[in-house]
Amino acid sequence: MDAAPLQPEATRGNLTIALAKGRILKEALPLLRTAGIAPQDDPGRSRKLIFGTARPDVRILVMRATDVPTYVEYGAADLGIVGKDTLLEYDGDGFYEPLDLGIARCHLMVAAPAGQQLTAARLRIATKYAGITRRHFAVQGVQTEIIKLYGSMELAPLVGLADRIVDLVDTGNTLKANGLVEIERICEISARVIVNKAAWKTKHQAVTALLAELDRHKGSGRA
Ligand code: AMP
Repeated sequence: MDAAPLQPEATRGNLTIALAKGRILKEALPLLRTAGIAPQDDPGRSRKLIFGTARPDVRILVMRATDVPTYVEYGAADLGIVGKDTLLEYDGDGFYEPLDLGIARCHLMVAAPAGQQLTAARLRIATKYAGITRRHFAVQGVQTEIIKLYGSMELAPLVGLADRIVDLVDTGNTLKANGLVEIERICEISARVIVNKAAWKTKHQAVTALLAELDRHKGSGRA
């Protein structure tokens, strides 16, 4: 993807952080607070999308996880906080990934109905991670038909839409509640900080100072 940087953001001294909604937002806010970046309103309750913070030079944008890499690649945000799953699935490279925050931890895996007997030569796999799934099974030489879904992957094998799913698992409770078992772990996942390549140069001092703060507090600010 060709990302032309947005000039106004790239030249300002301020920092804009794109934050993925949901579990990452919940776990990143305490960490940002300990680093002195407390939002002025509660992003979990407010309908606003842009939040000023206790630091006048830092603002936060709240958005869907899959949009975070796009805002950062194009320079509409200088930094982003997003899951490694979203980054592995994203088709672009206009940012660096300098820091693993170690929050929103889970893993990506393949699951099937307990006791499943398969005879088909080609596996039907339901997932929202089509790219990761395609690459994973291609390496193993397994033929797959990938069925793209946007949520509740666990439902698909229960009603015959797919043989297996590729999804995130944290406690394993959702799999268990739906009679599914994990049959293969693909990789560990956690939230990462990404930085726009131009901002890395033009705002180097501010960006590295913020990364150092987050790195210093990352073990202590967990929800
Ligand atoms: P669990 O029942 O705790 O294993 O959680 C599984 C459900 O939560 C699945 O529907 C996953 O898609 C979702 N999930 C698990 N971990 C995460 C995460 N870190 N970020 C977003 N969704 C997650």
